[in-house]
Amino acid sequence: MSTYTRKIIREMDGYTPGEQPKQKDLIKLNTNENPYPPSPTAAKLFTEFASERLRLYPDPLADDLRRTIAETYGFGVDNIIAGNGSDDILNIIIRTFVSENEKIVCFDPSYSLYGVLAKIQNAHTHLINLTDDFSIPKDFLSSKLDKLSQKDDLKVFLIANPNSPTGNAFPMSEIETICSKFKGIVVVDEAYADFADDNALRLIKKFDNLIVSRTLSKSYSMAGVRLGWAISSPSIIKEMIKVKDSYNVNLLSQLLAIGALKDLPYFKDIISTIRTTRERLVKRLKLLGFTVIPSQSNFVMASPPGRNGNELFLFLRSKNILVRYFGALKTKDYIRITVGKDEDMQKLIDCCKEYISNIQ
Ligand code: PMP
Repeated sequence: MSTYTRKIIREMDGYTPGEQPKQKDLIKLNTNENPYPPSPTAAKLFTEFASERLRLYPDPLADDLRRTIAETYGFGVDNIIAGNGSDDILNIIIRTFVSENEKIVCFDPSYSLYGVLAKIQNAHTHLINLTDDFSIPKDFLSSKLDKLSQKDDLKVFLIANPNSPTGNAFPMSEIETICSKFKGIVVVDEAYADFADDNALRLIKKFDNLIVSRTLSKSYSMAGVRLGWAISSPSIIKEMIKVKDSYNVNLLSQLLAIGALKDLPYFKDIISTIRTTRERLVKRLKLLGFTVIPSQSNFVMASPPGRNGNELFLFLRSKNILVRYFGALKTKDYIRITVGKDEDMQKLIDCCKEYISNIQ
């Protein structure tokens, strides 16, 4: 342990990303990647890319990309900031709006990176427990939120919607209530919103404290490109731009992202396939006796008969199927399964059947 290190860093655990295994013959259903290839338009741009272009720095503000995002979602360029994945966007948000010893607010369980980013800034996390079915407690929305909003050290409320690792979506009316009552910035992290029935984009014009973040990692099959963005009011975006690294989005990512975003029919097609596979997977898990959290994402959180999430995780691992297990108290009964191709889901279901027949 280095004595050169800041105390907070020395004492904290870093964020642990999902495993990226070297083993090639695994069915990889652990980090919510898209099983289908990226857009053919982006693929063509990639193969035709002239490496000579790498000599120069990229556009610091990624203006062509911001314009494409703005046109795609019906906003102005000054409503958009691009980042090196949405994790970069989240990091910029915390560094822009939260000072040392101030607090962020988030739900539990949710995306565990939020608390880690706050800690690095010497800030704290105020956790709100979700109910047993992973929804927002009614008394939080009707009374506790009012009390919370009176505290002026709570700066940013981060909400993954659809939530991760649970997969369910909070109703837009509840997001609206939080935006209208919370005094600080509300971030709706929409990494999975393309798989959902609804999203918060229309609320941006209504609430000047709202930031929506998006990514190409899931719905656009481009986790390796590292491209995310935030949409918000121009005054908020302007402040975030001051905080970002000068060249936070590399040249190739800017180019490929533009290609992918313009390939709308391809994108719609794979989303619809994943949603159909998801519904079939949910039905089949339920038939096997699993408790399944209703999913609006490209993954499903489910608890097997016997409720031993870790045992099933290890059993699937022994069959070369990698899902994700979160051992915290509220999630330990569950595994989280990324929706893959139909044939992978078939193998998963077959293995789940075998597991259940073994425990009976
Ligand atoms: N938000 C949530 C809720 C996520 O699950 C993830 C993926 N780990 C991200 C943001 C980050 O995605 P990326 O940095 O790949 O855009």
